[in-house]
Amino acid sequence: MAKVYLTGAGPGDIELLTIKALRVIEEADVIIYDRLANPEILKKAKKSCEFIYVGKEDGRHIMPQDDINEIIYKSSLNYKNVVRLKGGDPFVFGRGGEEALYLFTRDVEFEIIPGITSAVSVPAYAGIPVTHRGVSKSFRVLTGHEASKKDVSNMNFEDLRTDDTIVFLMGLHNLSKISKKLIEIGKGKNCPVAVISKGTTIEQKVVVGTLLDIAAKAKNIPTPALIIVGEVVKLREKLKWF
Ligand code: SAH
Repeated sequence: MAKVYLTGAGPGDIELLTIKALRVIEEADVIIYDRLANPEILKKAKKSCEFIYVGKEDGRHIMPQDDINEIIYKSSLNYKNVVRLKGGDPFVFGRGGEEALYLFTRDVEFEIIPGITSAVSVPAYAGIPVTHRGVSKSFRVLTGHEASKKDVSNMNFEDLRTDDTIVFLMGLHNLSKISKKLIEIGKGKNCPVAVISKGTTIEQKVVVGTLLDIAAKAKNIPTPALIIVGEVVKLREKLKWF
């Protein structure tokens, strides 16, 4: 009986892979993967393991999700240990839930192996705690990709009138729209923002600014990158360690 492991690959640093993820990768007969922050992970597979790239960048699918679902399903007919490897955590903007639901309808056995999400770990490697006593009591993780559909109108910015930390994944190409909108709803122009690119890897880059100037400052930063907005960003001045 085949089993599909919907597995989180973590944010990039290979040592942030879980022991469980490493085990299923080592035992995999086939690995179906997206663009990963660290492709070195694939080298942990056995020699006979097959690899299927179903590339996905910043939420833009090179391959439609239905096709990916079908590839995972077909793999379960042909191989015993199927690993579906996804960046970060499979259930945080990874469409892992959809893939699991598809396997459920096809009666394929599956297991979810959570991964360390970039939403929390990438800020941590930049010296930014997502919550901090007396600074921010909670944090939200949003997709900034929604915004790309011509405008950001389908994102509920009113909802972001808050002092919570806000983390935008998949938002880099909308950075100027997002920061403009946040100023419009009343966040201070000087509200601190960081853009973190290729976090947790040796190529990590961090640009710090304010809602007013971050878009210009982060212009040429490579993806994957996330945006973090809130007073916690200032803690980086002291907590920057990586
Ligand atoms: N499931 C993933 C998120 C998928 S969405 C997770 O839990 O981390 C992909 C987005 O995650 C990217 O557009 C980027 O915003 C963010 N991301 C992933 N890895 C990153 C990294 N190493 N550095 C910065 N951002 C990253």
